[in-house]
Amino acid sequence: LSSLYGSLQGLATAPVEFATSVVSFERVFEVIDLPLEIQESPHPVTITQPRGELSFENVTFHYGIDEKNLLKDVRRYGQVDQVSAVLSGDAPQTAPALSQARETALEDISFSAHPGQLVALVGPSGAGKTTLTYLIPRLYDPGAGCVRLDGVDIRELSLDFLSSMIGMVTQETHLFHDTIRTNLIYAKLDASDQEIEDAARAANIHNFIAALPDGYNTIVGERGYRLSGGEKQRLALARVILKNPRILVLDEATSHLDSESESLIQEALRRVMAGRTSIVIAHRLSTILAADQILVIDRGRIVERGNHTSLLAAGGLYAHLYQTQFAEGHKPAANGQ
Ligand code: ADP
Ligand code: MG
Repeated sequence: LSSLYGSLQGLATAPVEFATSVVSFERVFEVIDLPLEIQESPHPVTITQPRGELSFENVTFHYGIDEKNLLKDVRRYGQVDQVSAVLSGDAPQTAPALSQARETALEDISFSAHPGQLVALVGPSGAGKTTLTYLIPRLYDPGAGCVRLDGVDIRELSLDFLSSMIGMVTQETHLFHDTIRTNLIYAKLDASDQEIEDAARAANIHNFIAALPDGYNTIVGERGYRLSGGEKQRLALARVILKNPRILVLDEATSHLDSESESLIQEALRRVMAGRTSIVIAHRLSTILAADQILVIDRGRIVERGNHTSLLAAGGLYAHLYQTQFAEGHKPAANGQ
């Protein structure tokens, strides 16, 4: 299951527990491999020829706010800063947000992403978009309803199989304090140098790596060579290409990139999405325009759905978000979660 946690949100920037220690490959897996509450089915199954149809059926989900749950988050996403603030009672903003979440995380979510489709999630900050994506690899299980892959309730699937089906790219790409090669190869432990290079090329990051003094042997991560946000994202996309999952779950970055990085990423993204079912928390106009379906999420519910043209014509929340966040000339609004 560990291979799923390609990007550990926030771990790289967490101020308290990790800042003073070098986060090594082993150390992180030690943290992640602690037992989670998610249980593998006693009779786990796999799908022989997965097509990549992903559906949510009347999914409802509430976060617990007990300590156990918060600690689980540390293990899962490394949201150390948020979690430690709550535990120390020093969280004026987080605490109300958490109690609000108990009521509103996700409510009666139903949709189907057909094989190869791009489904874009849009909505205000705190609406539940990230939470929705967390249910796909079973970082959490729904309170009611179910998530299906090719018609099979994902709780029936072997965890290794489910993990192999999903590539996740979150806003914070975690890099181990190790070489670029090592950071890539853990997505596919038996990958050859040629495969690694091909993946890096497809992700538009090979030329950058090749130009570094130590090339693929350059040490990155904490105290290592500092990569820009755009470079990290392209490394994360190279990981997905190596892993080759049927389903891509992507939280597009909100950080403003220069236009060269932006176009390199867009091209890499198109390659990564091709032939995969993609669920994308969209912050880019190009993504929402390319989406087969746009789901507009607000307070844990799908409040509108359609394509760009139909949603714009409807003149509802999407049209409002489009005017304020996506329309040409506007920078994307910062998204706290
Ligand atoms: P979005 O990605 O649309 O900004 P999120 O899915 O991150 O929204 O958050 C939805 C709601 O769930 C928010 O109210 C948020 O505060 C809450 N929330 C997010 N993560 C957690 C968590 N780990 N524990 C408890 N509540 C959470
Ligand atoms: Mg989010």
